[in-house]
Amino acid sequence: MTLRQLRDFQGDALINGIIEVVDRLKPLHLSIVGGDPLVRYRELEAVVPMLLKRGIHVQIVTSAFRPITQAWAGRDHLGIVVSIDGLEAEHDVRRAPATYKRILANIAGHKITVHCTITSQMMNRPDYLREFISFWSAREETRKIWMSIFTPQRGDSPVEVLTPDQRARVIAELLVLRREFPKLDMAEGLIREFEHPPSSPEECIFAKTTHTISADLKTKIQPCQFGGDPDCTQCGCVASMGLAAVGRYRLGGLIPLKHIMSVSARIGAAFERRSEPPQPTPFNIVTG
Ligand code: SF4
Repeated sequence: MTLRQLRDFQGDALINGIIEVVDRLKPLHLSIVGGDPLVRYRELEAVVPMLLKRGIHVQIVTSAFRPITQAWAGRDHLGIVVSIDGLEAEHDVRRAPATYKRILANIAGHKITVHCTITSQMMNRPDYLREFISFWSAREETRKIWMSIFTPQRGDSPVEVLTPDQRARVIAELLVLRREFPKLDMAEGLIREFEHPPSSPEECIFAKTTHTISADLKTKIQPCQFGGDPDCTQCGCVASMGLAAVGRYRLGGLIPLKHIMSVSARIGAAFERRSEPPQPTPFNIVTG
């Protein structure tokens, strides 16, 4: 089954469906991603206050192809992440109608997180990352910047995939740029995780602590938000690297947190098998 074959809710059915899912799974964090969730902006405007009232941290990932609701500006526990595919010339070709011109108009009055996925084409041009981060750092609407690296499916080799040399250059450049541009919100430990991504979903803390549901609010996307059969050994997901870095942190200087997380996940999974409804997961993503 493809995403296009899944039933896509609208109106009250979508609002009630999202609330039913979060009341059942009780996430700490909910990312609403796409396609583009702003396609259903009326439903989002209704459901976001309901989610925040429940104490859930909400993140909306959008291309900003339409104005972002002004009522969301400055709301605590609500993050707006705008996906931007490189500098204006390359981005506008890939993302029209969400062009730079539109994004800049539509984010006015907001504080956003810029998220860019680095491709091999970007790394063919010297200083591409510096130009991109410099442009978005200078914008007052930018609160922070996250950079991911393109993640292929296993057995696929699209032109976006970085060579090992390009990946090494990305890591070296980000380590320099994070010192020059404070809005580049990527700790050194996180950036170094790009050097050795998890070998499989079983090794990925992010995959183990998230629950990704498709637009029918039922179908689980596995093993992670990428779906299909992603090549973990070339993973470039900033969220996966962030949690991997947290997992490396040694509690009391002794026990790596990932060991505690792993034991906790095993206990949780065993408990979940025996109980109904399922136990809360720390993060949830609803795709739509
Ligand atoms: S987030 Fe990356 S490492 Fe984790 S399961 Fe998905 S592709 Fe693999």
